[in-house]
Amino acid sequence: MKLDFDETTLGFRLTFEQTSWETATGFRPSITVGETVIYFDEAVSVEHSYTPRAVRSSYTFTDYCFETKIRLEGEDEVFFEWRPIKEVRAIDRVVWPGPLAFEEASNDWVSLLPIQQGLMIPNTWPEALGPISFDGLFLTAGATMPWFSQLKGDQAVLASCLTPWDAGYQADHPAGGPFTHVSFYMQKSLGAMRYPRVFRYTFFSGATLSDITARYRRYAEAEQKFLTLAEKAERLSGLDGLIGSMVVHTGIKTHIEPESRMYDPADPMANQVIRPYKHVSDYAEELAGYGLEKVYFHLDGWAEPGYDNQHPDYHEPVEAAGGLRQMKQMVETIQGLGYLFGIHDQYRDYYLRAPSFTWEKAVRLEDGSHPEHAFWAGGRQTYLCSHFALDYVKRNFSLMKDKGIVLDAAYLDVFTCNEADECFHPDHPVSRREGYANRLACFDYLRDEDILSSSEEMNEWALPSLVFCHYAPYDFMLRAPGSPKYGLPVPLFNLVYHDCAIIPWMMEQHAEEDYFLYALLNGGIPYLRRDGAYQNIDGSFETTRSIPMSEHIERCRVVSRLHERVAKERMIDFELLDASGKRQRSVFSDGTRVTIDLATGDYVIEPPLAK
Ligand SMILES: [Zn+2]
Repeated sequence: MKLDFDETTLGFRLTFEQTSWETATGFRPSITVGETVIYFDEAVSVEHSYTPRAVRSSYTFTDYCFETKIRLEGEDEVFFEWRPIKEVRAIDRVVWPGPLAFEEASNDWVSLLPIQQGLMIPNTWPEALGPISFDGLFLTAGATMPWFSQLKGDQAVLASCLTPWDAGYQADHPAGGPFTHVSFYMQKSLGAMRYPRVFRYTFFSGATLSDITARYRRYAEAEQKFLTLAEKAERLSGLDGLIGSMVVHTGIKTHIEPESRMYDPADPMANQVIRPYKHVSDYAEELAGYGLEKVYFHLDGWAEPGYDNQHPDYHEPVEAAGGLRQMKQMVETIQGLGYLFGIHDQYRDYYLRAPSFTWEKAVRLEDGSHPEHAFWAGGRQTYLCSHFALDYVKRNFSLMKDKGIVLDAAYLDVFTCNEADECFHPDHPVSRREGYANRLACFDYLRDEDILSSSEEMNEWALPSLVFCHYAPYDFMLRAPGSPKYGLPVPLFNLVYHDCAIIPWMMEQHAEEDYFLYALLNGGIPYLRRDGAYQNIDGSFETTRSIPMSEHIERCRVVSRLHERVAKERMIDFELLDASGKRQRSVFSDGTRVTIDLATGDYVIEPPLAK
């Protein structure tokens, strides 16, 4: 490994084996202060000092001073460190070390991005990359793991962020390429850059995609970033019952406030819908009639005054649906059949109509204001400061216990999808990093109560405790079927963490592709029924084909039985078997191989599932 540093451009060239990796031409490292972009090369004074394996640079401006260090480590690692020394005004954002030059019109030059389940962009990919959710901020759905990778054939770099709480990545791929640029950015924490930021670049020669994810897994193991399902099962009596379960996602009460963007003035009846609890228990019995042994019921809108309303004061069963008596009967029916029951819950969206609402517990922004919108059913809302989340979780789950409602699982919405909130309230300031810790404490509490924890998506930060999720889909699944893909879908998250979490998969058969095949490839559990709370959101789209129930159950059975076999196995390999990416194969650590063909709808599981 050799490092060359260019004092004029402030770029670098790293040579590993025979391949060189250098800063993209034209890139200038920068800080952003308010609307102003200031380049490192505009510093009043710059000093570089060299040792045999490192270069340290210090940049002094009138109002700012900071340091960078690039150092070689071991045989194949390079660390990039950025350290703030003086900030008279807050630096909002830093872009450094910058994108690597990656210009070659080749299908073998590919970039791996941690968007949701994972995305691979060949340099020649015809579609331009669209906006990345949450601006690519790490620890959100836009980046379920804090790393990206680029491969020039079998020469590769794995770029990881070791300080991910206030950092993310940007990526640029124009239609047809022929390049993809990916770079890290850092942002301030509670009003200042505050702490040193560290990035680790690991270089490979003769590598496949799975070598890269395996290396990342080893780092994650050394850093104790996760517990496996086998480890979690030691403390959760219901975990093994969830393995191989089919998921039923349905709801009781919809109530949409007039100021909500979901309110339909043309159809007032649609804004207030109540289904009796008994419908759900009848449905459970119907499923038992089909001989289904393992089903998990996730229930929306189970409390007054309806789905996405008045959180966190959400615990009174819906009277018009049968009240507490019918709700308990429903839960007992479900559990009596050997099925699992869990509720939808929420400790971030903070509704102004909640009886205990007070601005004093709301997230306060730096300028003293509060975030506010009325997107969801419950109307006007802000965010609950995560400082208070655990208190409300404890209160609500105790109330349910008092009522005699026994929960197998609970879903805490948005925690693993949206970024953690910073709070500037002087009585309860919270950094993003603390925000994630506060959320994790809620999952830990559920574990201690022997309740399986779930949240919206999967994210590395939650893996010490989180058991399952609503989904961890490919990004294209949240856009209407037939929408252009931003690249080839690759199961990066599962290649690192398959044995650490249980992931439900959509089972829709769209004209373009059968999502059942992705459920198999990923070794997940199937959605038997998915009544999306809002149409055309969260991947709920009309399908062109409705599958007869008996056929649908058969498809779900295949996915479930595969999950029974591989749930606690690692996914150790993944291959695209043709240039179009239509034929794909995953391999699990027990030797199971799943080959799918998205063009024909065929699949092969080896060895085959027992009859
Ligand atoms: Zn706060």
